[in-house]
Amino acid sequence: MSALVGGIEAGGTKFVCAIGRDGEIVAETRIATTSPAETLAAALAFFEHQGSPAALGVASFGPIDLDERSPTHGFITTTPKAGWAHTDVVGPLRRALGVPVAFDTDVNAAALAEQRWGAARDAGSVVYVTVGTGIGGGAVVNGRPVHGLAHPEMGHARIPHDRTADPFAGACPHHGDCWEGLAAAPALAARWGVPPQSLPDDHPAWALEAHYLALGLANIILTLSPERLVLGGGVLARSGLLERVRIDVRRLIGGYMPSGEIVAPMLGDRSGVLGALALAADLAR
Ligand code: ZN
Repeated sequence: MSALVGGIEAGGTKFVCAIGRDGEIVAETRIATTSPAETLAAALAFFEHQGSPAALGVASFGPIDLDERSPTHGFITTTPKAGWAHTDVVGPLRRALGVPVAFDTDVNAAALAEQRWGAARDAGSVVYVTVGTGIGGGAVVNGRPVHGLAHPEMGHARIPHDRTADPFAGACPHHGDCWEGLAAAPALAARWGVPPQSLPDDHPAWALEAHYLALGLANIILTLSPERLVLGGGVLARSGLLERVRIDVRRLIGGYMPSGEIVAPMLGDRSGVLGALALAADLAR
């Protein structure tokens, strides 16, 4: 049996901390995200009480610094979340627990978890995209999360925006009408004047949403050619939307190359914390 490891899904509203092995969680707690010092102290108290894990994985909101040569490796960097910009997350945990700490984005971790235990099992290359209050995307290629100078930020990709058909300027504070700025839940709310869950199934909002999601996904497919693309998040809870997106993606790719499978997640809101445990297990191995 493999060693018990620890995982933290570090989110903007809560930290989910767990101890587990092989995709099974044996203890878990949820901590409200307040100040960094208070939140990290509460997380540490949980792991110290559980007995030190063999390794820890942290799946974090971002942007984050993943460059091991960087003096700010392990930091959350330019987040707009109050109090958290330029915060060392990994350092205090590693020093207090005395174990190796793996660090990655919440969406890279979710891609890893869905590949190991969820909707992308047996797929060699996987992309995970979540569409909710923002759009986030993570990728696993050859069993490893994809990093670059920083990490993929698929949600801020540029997609065609026909301002005659859709005059909405976009909701991203950094880019206006990037993918997230056109297609995440806040963009739907701002464009149509009501929360997306209040829009009926036959509202034109959903055809436009399927079109925008398909444009972004087609670019990801053409760039990375994943065997399986896991598409989830609150906006995808809309009945029929996933199927509409599949049809639009096939139309956009136009039979030029295989577009792989687009599937719903299997791990739901567990993918982040399970991904953190997977990161830790890979480090402890
Ligand atoms: Zn953006």
